[in-house]
Amino acid sequence: MKILVMQCSSTAYRCPIKYKFFDMNNETLLSKGLVEKVESESWVLHHNPTNKPIKDISVDEPDYTCAISAILTALTDKNCGVIQSIQEIDAVGFRVVHGGEKYSKPLIITPDVENFLEECSAMAPLHNPYNIAGIKACENLLPNVPMVAMFDTAFHQTMPAKAFLYGIPYEAYEKHGVRRYGFHGMSHQYVSERTAVLMDKPLSQLKIITCHLGNGASLAAIQYGKSVDTSMGFTPLDGPIMNTRCGGIDPAIFPYLMKKEGLSMEHMDSYLNSRSGVLGLSGVSGDFRKIILSAQKGNERAEIALDVFAYTIKKFIGQYMAAMNGVDAIIFTAGIGENSPSLRAKICTGMEFIGVEIDPCRNDITGVEREISAAGSKIKLFVIPTNEELMIARETRAVCASLA
Ligand code: ADP
Repeated sequence: MKILVMQCSSTAYRCPIKYKFFDMNNETLLSKGLVEKVESESWVLHHNPTNKPIKDISVDEPDYTCAISAILTALTDKNCGVIQSIQEIDAVGFRVVHGGEKYSKPLIITPDVENFLEECSAMAPLHNPYNIAGIKACENLLPNVPMVAMFDTAFHQTMPAKAFLYGIPYEAYEKHGVRRYGFHGMSHQYVSERTAVLMDKPLSQLKIITCHLGNGASLAAIQYGKSVDTSMGFTPLDGPIMNTRCGGIDPAIFPYLMKKEGLSMEHMDSYLNSRSGVLGLSGVSGDFRKIILSAQKGNERAEIALDVFAYTIKKFIGQYMAAMNGVDAIIFTAGIGENSPSLRAKICTGMEFIGVEIDPCRNDITGVEREISAAGSKIKLFVIPTNEELMIARETRAVCASLA
């Protein structure tokens, strides 16, 4: 069974589309790629077939239908392709950011599902509308192929009410669905499943804290395979400070700053989402590599930004140890979690009292799966590169099998 996995994001992002194409008979990656916006605002597909050279293909128009059409053409091209015809694509799996409370499992996309996702767009305006645009484009280009949606929020639907309710009038939850949803579900699920394999123990016996540290950063407390708490909330703005997002702050700051700075709601939204986080603190960049370099050169605000980042993450780790009455393993994943030994060390240092001991030599790695805790560390530490797309492909295969 061959499955195409699509991640469609906002056209405002540098990469509006990422794809991976798997042969799920043996879970091998046949090809991957991304569509990148270039300076002239036009889109270029970087098509990367396994064991063949990367090919850059310009997309006729900067829209989802043209870009996905270019992906399908590349997949079937006689030189850079990996299949003979699009008939070999058995199913398409989509990452959808917000599924509300209604969808806690992956499912076949029907017109009813699409209508509900449109309703959820108000809660994820930067994500759901673009996820839906990608789905519609694929439906047009691949009619009769099953389309499966998997939700970033779904994995966290196991959280108990004490973890997902906010301390505001209950009617806000009942009438408007205001509650903690959590995001990055597929990544937290994937790395927790890998942890069980690496520790050679059933997931149902493990307490794990997963730290997904990318441009968006979120942590999850995973007790016996189920998410019991997570740091992102009603939207992906909550949690530790992130690249350009403020993370959790005192809500009274909003009206105060709006008044002081004369900011409108829209300005406030971009202030908190795009101008805050380590970018806002350091004044250097939202890219952690640049901030680390700047701190190494003596920039104090860059150093402070990194300190705040690591400190807010450490506090979540502490909270989740308390929430689960202990922890067996802490996992680092995504761009920063996989690639930054210095930030992993900064986060772990100072938790030796509770049994967290990082091994500096083992920690000196980027982008590979490895235990990084010291030999005697009571709590195990691992770097596990995430693979959200494989998770989506596995679930898509399972949903399709249940139809047969
Ligand atoms: P996204 O959240 O958009 O999927 P990623 O998971 O790829 O993104 O994470 C991107 C982030 O990872 C960027 O902020 C980048 O600076 C950071 N990153 C990548 N490599 C390193 C590195 N070697 N050291 C520190 N940060 C890194």
